[in-house]
Amino acid sequence: MALTGIQIFKLLPKTNCKECGFPTCLAFAMQLAMGKTELALCPYVSEEAKDQLQEASAPPIRPITIGMGAAAFKTGGETVMFRHEKTFENQPGLALRITDAMDEGEGDARVEKMKTLQYERVGLLLRPDVVAVKETRGDPKKFADLVQKVHQRNGYALILMSDLLGAGLTICGAARPLIYAATKENADDVAKLAKEHKCPVAARAESLEELAALTDRLSGLGIKDIVLDSGSRTSRRALEDQIIIRRSALVGKFKPLGFLTITLPCEMMDDPMKETLIASTFVAKYAGIIVLSNFEGHSLFPLLLERMNIYTDPQRPMATEEGIYEIGGPDENAPVLITSNFSLTYFIVSGEIETSRVSSHLLVKDTEGLSVMTAWAAGKFVAEEIGPFVTKCGIGDRVKHHHLIIPGYAAQISGELEEELPGWTIEIGPREASHIPAYLKQWNP
Ligand code: SF4
Repeated sequence: MALTGIQIFKLLPKTNCKECGFPTCLAFAMQLAMGKTELALCPYVSEEAKDQLQEASAPPIRPITIGMGAAAFKTGGETVMFRHEKTFENQPGLALRITDAMDEGEGDARVEKMKTLQYERVGLLLRPDVVAVKETRGDPKKFADLVQKVHQRNGYALILMSDLLGAGLTICGAARPLIYAATKENADDVAKLAKEHKCPVAARAESLEELAALTDRLSGLGIKDIVLDSGSRTSRRALEDQIIIRRSALVGKFKPLGFLTITLPCEMMDDPMKETLIASTFVAKYAGIIVLSNFEGHSLFPLLLERMNIYTDPQRPMATEEGIYEIGGPDENAPVLITSNFSLTYFIVSGEIETSRVSSHLLVKDTEGLSVMTAWAAGKFVAEEIGPFVTKCGIGDRVKHHHLIIPGYAAQISGELEEELPGWTIEIGPREASHIPAYLKQWNP
């Protein structure tokens, strides 16, 4: 049963030392009760209180890290059913499945290609996270060789999918792979391997009831990091299972299902496009790991974008820091443009300036992450706001000319802005960012 903020406060040292980053123990307790901070941030909690608090403050879905070091990937830890209630915490891992039934060249090519499938978007690097190595031949040496090859060359977190887990763990046991899967038949053996190598375990069953019994058994064997596979291999049933599991954990506080899930669209469909569509459903609801048979740029990129959009805070627009951004080594004659700090706006505008190959100064005004038009309507991209920023930021000392190019959509502020910035000439730039290259190429102050 979750504790209230006051109940948690009673168990804290009440010294208000601020070391946790909060001004008082009460503030820390309130945030802890809402699941917005971690107990580990307070170094002074007694062991006795820690036991009580850890139990009460643990997220209803246990977070798990797969892999080590740079390859480590954290997922799970969700606390809400819907994104509008609170931000989703840890995005689901997108995993590429490699099997020992593939030709040697094919497996290598897929792993190598995975490394190239990385995209920068609004300042974030979007990339897949995990490689699932699946054994199908019953040959421990072949499986170990494949694990060795992927482990050495890859740099991603691993899932070992096999009945011969020991063979794979001798190669990469120290890298904390997820081992798949414990079933009611082999739970004791798999739990032993997991404890020996300190690895998380996927539990697979044929129904949710069986799954709950299996996780209870694994927990009883001392396994804490568990990933759920409900065994469903049709998209409809698997989706239903995702929803039931999430609801049971969050609303029903049902601990045996309080774990993240793994879904396998690669075992539900042969058509790559349909497989991607199913995967997109699980990005939204509610998988912790999604295993696909192959990655192609045209199918992976939409999944990465969907994941980014769902796992960012809807109440906090993505924003770039206010300041002067130099693009392409501008000198004192370079153009000066200004835009808002909505990340998407910044990256589109800066990208178009780069495309123009005209070195420029780009001023980014803090508009609390709003786009130019929205910020103008909200009074954040208006002359009285922009004028003091341009003066204070010091761009006037960096350029000989005093010409400021404003977005075409903000043309209406040009007159007032000239009044705010005596000595500056306000020029109205293009309305569409795609017209910036042509505009800059002919620009002459
Ligand atoms: S670190 Fe602990 S004792 Fe100090 S203010 Fe935070 S909760 Fe209170």
